[in-house]
Amino acid sequence: KLTVAPVLERSESSDATFITKMKNTNRNVVVFYGSQTGTAEEFATRLAKDASRYGMKGLVADPEECDMEDLAKLTDISNSLAIFCMATYGEGDPTDNAQEFHEFLTNGSVDLTGIKYAVFGLGNKTYEHYNSMGLFVDKRLEELGAERVFELGLGDDDANIEEDFVSWKEKFWPAVCSYFGVEATGENVNTRQYALTLIPEDFPKEKIFTGEVARVGSLLNQKPPYDVKNPYLAPILVNRELHKGGDRSCMHIELDITDSKIRYETGDHVAIYPVNDSEIVEKLGQRLGADLDTLFMLTNIDEDASKKHPFPCPCTYRTALTHYIDITHPPRTHVLGELAEYTDSTEDKEFLLKMTHATEEGKKLYQDWIHNDHRNILAVLEDIPSLKPPIDHLCELLPRLQPRFYSISSSPKIHPTSIHVTAILVKYTTPTQRVYKGVCTNWLATMKPGAAGEPLPRVPIYVRKSQFRLPYKPSTPVIMIGPGTGLAPFRGFIQERSYFKEEGKPVGDTILYFGCRNKSVDFIYEEELTKYVDTGLLTLHAAFSRDQEHKVYVQHLIDQNHDEIWNVLNNSGHLYICGDAKNMARDVHAMLVKILTSKGNMTTTEAEDYIKKLQSKGRYSADVWS
Ligand code: FAD
Ligand code: NAP
Repeated sequence: KLTVAPVLERSESSDATFITKMKNTNRNVVVFYGSQTGTAEEFATRLAKDASRYGMKGLVADPEECDMEDLAKLTDISNSLAIFCMATYGEGDPTDNAQEFHEFLTNGSVDLTGIKYAVFGLGNKTYEHYNSMGLFVDKRLEELGAERVFELGLGDDDANIEEDFVSWKEKFWPAVCSYFGVEATGENVNTRQYALTLIPEDFPKEKIFTGEVARVGSLLNQKPPYDVKNPYLAPILVNRELHKGGDRSCMHIELDITDSKIRYETGDHVAIYPVNDSEIVEKLGQRLGADLDTLFMLTNIDEDASKKHPFPCPCTYRTALTHYIDITHPPRTHVLGELAEYTDSTEDKEFLLKMTHATEEGKKLYQDWIHNDHRNILAVLEDIPSLKPPIDHLCELLPRLQPRFYSISSSPKIHPTSIHVTAILVKYTTPTQRVYKGVCTNWLATMKPGAAGEPLPRVPIYVRKSQFRLPYKPSTPVIMIGPGTGLAPFRGFIQERSYFKEEGKPVGDTILYFGCRNKSVDFIYEEELTKYVDTGLLTLHAAFSRDQEHKVYVQHLIDQNHDEIWNVLNNSGHLYICGDAKNMARDVHAMLVKILTSKGNMTTTEAEDYIKKLQSKGRYSADVWS
């Protein structure tokens, strides 16, 4: 009888330092990652795998689990190389798992002379601090004496980060080969990283994962503290529509945190672990000819890898496809490359392989057929009928399903036992006429409390602290700029200021710039906001972009109120922007520069410096997403 102990996703017995591990297993390449959503980790894994093509051997390492002081000891290993795949998160911050490493590099004085390194940064150009972590690590390692063997690579997630990465690594490896005087040993070898074990049906039920993030049974047997590895299954108390018509939907959701010991502050984010649409899961099962109730386990073939399983195992294929695997985002090139093995059509194989090539033709094909057409894995399988990959290999290749973040739209001063979310439903038709339904928002749309007495629907959540904070003194004036769902955190801010006002504390000017398409359709929380205006707490400037022929946006209203903005800034006030990172945040920023140049007699450079100073003093903050 097979005995398989359910295991945590990561090995907990990693006492050995990464240097010892490398020495014991004859490895000379270590690939560190700073990853928030799994992409940097995936790139690191691919680089480590690539190393074998060049007669080298790679180890993937999480800086959070390593003593990074040991980096200096890498010189003990001949022909050694450290690669860093570093994502930038939020407003130019390191990812959670790279925070200590960031501090170590910032404050430390370790001598890294003799260490060879290369960095690939992952960022998004819509954000102001584009790739700041990658740039920082690359520069700082050099300052500490390490030697850069290849130029810094920068990936832009707003365009096509997969293409940026593939183009970089296709030049990187030949440079490494010539640096170390080694030769490529062969073509791309597709070796499985995980071994499949089928689990008998009579395996004890309590040891089977059913959607838990890390600890088996953790969703049934809930124990605080709740965090990224141990989310709280929060009941949904309210889920109501905020739009008054139109063909879009915006949900106001209230999550119950009574008895959970979860605390939050105004401006924090709540993370929600979603599940994939059961229709796509069933279709995938059918297309792959798999019985979704099969119990299985994938175990890393490399015994020294820190990641023993790609996701919590054992579980059924249905659980894996529903809870653990991202089946809706366009697959990356390495997935297409490995899938190409599973077609007996030479034409289809060539087509798939072409998309993996870093040639102009290959990159364009991937950009058009996968990226622009928004083809997910199901669409790829539907459009290439000869493709017949085994389900377990697909489970190995696809990335982890990620939690989604929402700016909390309530204040704990008024709602200590609930967290409010304001979420716009994502739904669009792709160029191949498939309807794409955003994973989390479409799932949330189905989670409506039923009749009294019925159990409430529940969703796994945790709270992530943010830097988006009201000024310490309520008397400090604030300007909040948040069109659309960008209003979310400001609803919390306004609640908090109203609480202080009712307590009799002096509350400074509270000014909101809100924008939506039509006053009668998507002016969310109109009644609440009007009430705050009536009580004298709030000054509201609302831009309705589609209620007249020409567009009226928040920045157009700001343009009419130079004196108001200038006065708030001169009275030590704080300025906040929330919502769309792509266009709105940039346009509003440009408008502020315009105001500073006109009212403050500054040059553009002086205005930019002034804004930077405000940022460093915490008087100008952005909470934006793309
Ligand atoms: P997914 O399945 O993740 O699909 C979204 C993807 O679809 C996008 O990345 C984009 O690539 C694509 N896409 C979306 N629309 C289109 C389109 N029209 N055409 C083509 N492609 C498209 N959202 C809120 O609604 N309210 C908030 O308060 C909020 N706060 C956030 C705070 C932070 C810090 C962050 C990072 C994000 C926030 N978001 C917020 C966005 C939220 O996290 C999710 O990204 C969003 O709800 C979509 O998730 P989903 O799973 O439904 O869609
Ligand atoms: P929205 O309803 O699309 O937009 C709110 C208002 O902002 C509308 O009046 C809109 O006008 C206006 N606007 C458009 N461009 C602007 C600009 N450059 N400057 C100032 N205002 C502008 O808002 P939303 O649905 O809440 O979404 C806001 C943005 O967040 C989206 O555009 C999207 O980029 C992002 N978002 C992303 C996801 C995701 O899946 N990742 C999910 C939710 C939101 P017009 O439309 O009339 O031009």
